[in-house]
Amino acid sequence: MKGTVMRSSFLPYFIPSISDEEIRSVTETLSSNWLTTGPKVHEFEQAFARTVGARHAIAVNSCTAALHLGLVLSGIKPGDEVITTPLTFCATVNVIIHTGAVPVLADIDPITGCLSPHAVRSVITEKTKAIIPVHFAGTPYDIDTLHALAHDHALAVIDDAAHALPTYYKNRIIGSFGNPTAFSFYVTKNITTGEGGMLVVNDDNAAHYARILTLHGISADAWKRYHQAGSWRYDVECAGFKYNMMDIQAALGLQQLRKLDSFQQRRSAIAARYTSALASLPLILPVEIPETKTSWHLYVIRLKPDAPLSRNTLIDALKKRNIGTGVHFIPLHHHSFYQNSFGWKIGDFPNCDSFYSAALSLPLYPAMTDDDVQDVIDALYDIIV
Ligand SMILES: *Cc1c(COP(=O)(O)O)cnc(C)c1O
Repeated sequence: MKGTVMRSSFLPYFIPSISDEEIRSVTETLSSNWLTTGPKVHEFEQAFARTVGARHAIAVNSCTAALHLGLVLSGIKPGDEVITTPLTFCATVNVIIHTGAVPVLADIDPITGCLSPHAVRSVITEKTKAIIPVHFAGTPYDIDTLHALAHDHALAVIDDAAHALPTYYKNRIIGSFGNPTAFSFYVTKNITTGEGGMLVVNDDNAAHYARILTLHGISADAWKRYHQAGSWRYDVECAGFKYNMMDIQAALGLQQLRKLDSFQQRRSAIAARYTSALASLPLILPVEIPETKTSWHLYVIRLKPDAPLSRNTLIDALKKRNIGTGVHFIPLHHHSFYQNSFGWKIGDFPNCDSFYSAALSLPLYPAMTDDDVQDVIDALYDIIV
């Protein structure tokens, strides 16, 4: 009978997987007397660079900071135009605004939710200097086409890889393509440092400059100045930012990174279970694009146009049955600030608008039990069928 399926406790949309190893590692760092940027950050950067096949990894205090640095390294300045997707978190566009550049949106591919290269092509002007594509939900964007387009127009590409650990495109892991790529360790992401991010680059000079920019523009390795081997002298080489990561965060990140493979196996198993169990409902389920591997950061389902209820009703009904969900994302052009600043309005990006109005993200994280997954499936059948 409808409405009889009910979990006894609320299943949150997300819970991080923190266990004894993380707690021990953070506690050891707290006892080491070296709390901020130091040996743990260095170790985390090395391990992360190896994981994603990049030459350099620079740990920062958020993915937002990493994206901003990516734009600064690419020489983006006031008056330039930078193209991004409307289907992203506001951080992606705010960093463009902070460089003084003008953000320009292009519509998404209706299947992947990533920037459509075709739509990007139609908004390139003489002022366009860069593109920030997002690997939406962990699905890679159309890298071959977009990078070729960027190459033809001499545009920088800064990847928003907040969802893309680990994501593969034609057997190459995201992070190994050589362009500045920004990862997030925010609490809901595939691995977490509480707050944190990583910028990876291949160019040696870019890496050196990025490192200086993370700490006020002070010459590299100045963090050692309180160390016995260090010196009190330092020089400020440019007006930098305060974007450095703490050793406390890196101690957490190192343990999370060691678990990345097992987290990923669990995410894939849950996604596979959803995909087989939900196939007969009037839903558009996420698909893995040929020659790619998604990180399964999000499992975004969309109600088909003929479904008997709206997305908002479905969210409320799931909540009543103690199931938390998320919406990724309220498109950028639906927010008042951007509407008022850039004249964007609802309807401007039809693929994005219809994606958004039908979409919700189901709980998907390694800490979910098989029973939790089954509760989500049962609740969906109870509501929709
Ligand atoms: C989470 C997220 C960010 C921001 O990451 P922070 O580490 O919180 O700064 C940027 N872009 C996308 C697509 C995200 O999901």
